[in-house]
Amino acid sequence: MLNLDLTEEQQLLEQSVREWGARAVAPRIHDLDRAHQFDRGVLPQMADLGLLGSCIPQKYGGAGMDYVSLGIASEELEYLDTSLRVIVSVHLGLNSLTLLAWGTEDQKTRYLIPQAQGKKIATYGLTEPSAGSDARGIQSVAIKKGDRYVLTGEKMWISLADVADNFLVFAWSDLDKKKQRDPNGISAFIVERVYKGFSSGTLKEKWGILAGNTGFFKMDEVEVPQENLVGREGEGFKIAMFALDQGRYTVAGGATGLIRACRDASVSYAKQRKAFGVEIGSHQLVKEMLAQMESDYQASRLLWMRAGWLKNAGRRNTKETGLAKWFATVASERAASDAVQIHGANGYSDEYPVGRFYRNCKGAVIYEGTREIHKLMQADYLLGYRSDRPTRCELPPYA
Ligand SMILES: Cc1cc2nc3c(=O)[nH]c(=O)nc-3n(C[C@H](O)[C@H](O)[C@H](O)COP(=O)(O)OP(=O)(O)OC[C@H]3O[C@@H](n4cnc5c(N)ncnc54)[C@H](O)[C@@H]3O)c2cc1C
Repeated sequence: MLNLDLTEEQQLLEQSVREWGARAVAPRIHDLDRAHQFDRGVLPQMADLGLLGSCIPQKYGGAGMDYVSLGIASEELEYLDTSLRVIVSVHLGLNSLTLLAWGTEDQKTRYLIPQAQGKKIATYGLTEPSAGSDARGIQSVAIKKGDRYVLTGEKMWISLADVADNFLVFAWSDLDKKKQRDPNGISAFIVERVYKGFSSGTLKEKWGILAGNTGFFKMDEVEVPQENLVGREGEGFKIAMFALDQGRYTVAGGATGLIRACRDASVSYAKQRKAFGVEIGSHQLVKEMLAQMESDYQASRLLWMRAGWLKNAGRRNTKETGLAKWFATVASERAASDAVQIHGANGYSDEYPVGRFYRNCKGAVIYEGTREIHKLMQADYLLGYRSDRPTRCELPPYA
């Protein structure tokens, strides 16, 4: 039976992230954002809270929580700042959950366990300077030489590029298939920062998620042992899409948290600020914006929860997760714009957090499938142009 009440464990997680956020993050986030500074100090604190391996089974170093808990954590983290939720999205959503489903026991021992414990930080490298939505347009190549693959290429717009230790990287291992744009020629690899020929940098010109690290990395004939091939040769495209089912789920939960942050800041301001002799909340057009935020928040929460429920049951959820991500991110852009509007000129200043929410929300309308790509996907499901076949490896259901 469907139950929307949070379990005791989920309530405890929600409460502990809120308490930690109010104490350790909220007083500092404005300054970190203004200074464009990623605070590495949050990583061990998030590890202590179990957030870096929340829904990874305990035997692989995680906290053994269910997938709904990952949605709750994402919502609470982005309520504080988008940069915190991004850590969970790439480290746990895109990378570790993919290793959980697709990794060998050896890869789980060497990479998943230290990642789930927060001893190593991980991210995901698909996008390149000339290819984002069109993932088959990537140019990175992986040439097999004996018992190694030699990787050459450049990845762009990578969250935690200058922070992560381990990278889940996608490259063409079949050059004939590359010419034909046949995605069965792409493979997935675990690349460590310490490998010779690897270098990374931070993008300095970004105007949102300023307390987060976003950058690029280059692979100049990086030798990767064949034991680091994830899945079979040629399964990389499927693995990249599988990873997005998990990352998008965290983005949906996070955008829901951002809508709530916009709503709470706006309600509070609407009760303080007076215009025409009354609180601005008394004006019907302000009420309308607040009511829209509430309906967007509740609808977004139900959508990510349904996706989490499907994950717990071990059921395919690409369509539902995509819908949750698309709806919540578009709604978060509306909520952030209206939150600035309700704050008037004060919303246009960094004195209030809503300007930061406005800058931060836009990224999620672009990454992990742009608004347009998600629209196309949902329409294609309706039209029967797209259907989801089970992949060889799926997330283990939550028992
Ligand atoms: C802050 C941030 C963090 C990121 N982190 C990561 C990361 O950790 N790892 C990673 O691999 N990538 C990451 N990305 C990259 C992100 O996933 C890509 O930016 C995204 O996939 C879009 O690709 P693009 O920027 O190349 O845009 P393009 O694909 O060039 O799209 C440009 C425009 O054309 C539209 N468009 C493209 N194709 C179609 C179509 N078929 N129909 C209709 N419209 C279309 C798009 O919707 C968009 O509006 C990040 C991006 C940002 C902004």
